[in-house]
Amino acid sequence: MMFRLRHALRLIFPSWCELCDGASEQAVCSSCEDMLIRMDAPFCLRCSEKFDGAADSPRDCYHCQDLKFAFEFVVTAYQMNEEMRTLVHALKYKKALYLDQFLGRCLRNVFLDERIAALNLSEWVITAVPLHFTRQRQRYFNQSEILAKTLASETEMRYLPLLKRVRPTQQQIRLTKTERAKNVAGAFAKNEESPCENVILVDDVFTTGATVNECAKQLKKQGVKRVIVVCLARK
Ligand SMILES: [Zn+2]
Ligand SMILES: [Zn+2]
Repeated sequence: MMFRLRHALRLIFPSWCELCDGASEQAVCSSCEDMLIRMDAPFCLRCSEKFDGAADSPRDCYHCQDLKFAFEFVVTAYQMNEEMRTLVHALKYKKALYLDQFLGRCLRNVFLDERIAALNLSEWVITAVPLHFTRQRQRYFNQSEILAKTLASETEMRYLPLLKRVRPTQQQIRLTKTERAKNVAGAFAKNEESPCENVILVDDVFTTGATVNECAKQLKKQGVKRVIVVCLARK
């Protein structure tokens, strides 16, 4: 009960930090924000896997060297850690909508990547990985869409729901790479035409890339030429 009350109050007046419960003007206080770890080089320029120095090119990346992606590359803003996991979880399952501005600002750090910073944004639109309507109904909102819309408004880009999910998929969490790809195969379809040949696709967390890859495949069927994926965190 107290838990719900606290969350309800936060919607109106976010004066506590989501992570430490200390007083905070922001949804996350500055000392907790310092515990979030930015994705910094070296990392894989295709799949954003953090390298420890032993590998420095996608050729050597054990994660993606044998994978084919329909997107150009993924940029993630943060490495996954306990604090980031709590925030993503709160947005996703606790409907912690007051985190949208904070996490949107976190996601904006993908623009620190030279490859994103160099884009002519007027030639790009932003879209998000869609949820199936049954899941969206249970959860009431799509966390990736919230992140995408916040990023779009912060960068004055256009957000468009280009995709829809045409069948529900299993939770990916316990599936292997191959099972994940199979699980999402054919799960997406056109929701609307893209006015641009270039699309920035937003998802909250990048794991194997199976879901965003399937979305990118569908976008290409819709005439999109280039898809760049941006995510909040990299597992
Ligand atoms: Zn805090
Ligand atoms: Zn890689």
